[in-house]
Amino acid sequence: MKVDLHCHSNISDGLLTPEAVVARAHERGVDLLALTDHDDVAGLATARAKAAALGMGFINGVEISAGWKDESIHLVGLGINPEHPDLAAGLHGVREGRLARAKRMDEALARVGIPGALEGALRFASQATMVGRLHFARYLVEQRIAPDVKSVFDHYLAQGKPGYVSHEWVSLETAIGWIKASGGVAVLAHPGRYRVSRKDLKRLLTHFQDAGGEGIEVNSGAHTPEQMKDFANIARQYGFKASIASDFHAPGESYRDLGSLPALPEDLIPVWRDLH
Ligand code: AMP
Ligand code: MN
Ligand code: MN
Ligand code: MN
Repeated sequence: MKVDLHCHSNISDGLLTPEAVVARAHERGVDLLALTDHDDVAGLATARAKAAALGMGFINGVEISAGWKDESIHLVGLGINPEHPDLAAGLHGVREGRLARAKRMDEALARVGIPGALEGALRFASQATMVGRLHFARYLVEQRIAPDVKSVFDHYLAQGKPGYVSHEWVSLETAIGWIKASGGVAVLAHPGRYRVSRKDLKRLLTHFQDAGGEGIEVNSGAHTPEQMKDFANIARQYGFKASIASDFHAPGESYRDLGSLPALPEDLIPVWRDLH
């Protein structure tokens, strides 16, 4: 069975509609998909209907931006009820914070000679409150300030670069609380991507588990093959359930495609086992 439990539509920073994401996953042989837009669940109803029409398994998902020390950490909620009031209100607040952050990014970019970046980024966002760094990146590529989105991140938007601004995201406890209140399972997204020491990674994993986190992405589009092995071992050590997560955003934008990641080692507990 081919599983992919992390991807984005144009509800957040992907480029395809929710239905087109589902159709593409189906064409690529995915049997079980979760759509996990950043901080928004607005795409789940149409995605679920499309999956049902195609006879493909579907799990409701969301990727919540949270903070831990100075890092922004992503938590994937799987099997959530998108209508739960705690989750809906919480995500609404996170999206309002995104727009405030985007205004500060706009000012920071203007200071290094790139005016009008928020207005440009908003042209790439389906709604103003979902504006994120990838929308800014696409605008800077369009303006030929950098050749591709990866290079925009490397030079302008990654932590420590001129367009990066720090932001108060919600705590792990808060985000995991919303996921669990709405009936979902909390999964730590792409744990190999956070720029923390080995010691802090272990602190983060322990903190996440103590706060009610149950799974980690082992096979992630953000992981090298070595990191997939490393996080398989970490899942064994901590007793985490394991997920498979392409983190697909758009064709041709340096992200892994839907359904392109390998199966998990057989001894790991698949996070989707009790979810569908
Ligand atoms: P935000 O949530 O607005 O801070 O933006 C984070 C998003 O930017 C991630 O979900 C990715 O889609 C994208 N992103 C982060 N780092 C990179 C990178 N190095 N190259 C391409 N996209 C990236
Ligand atoms: Mn993204
Ligand atoms: Mn992420
Ligand atoms: Mn993602």
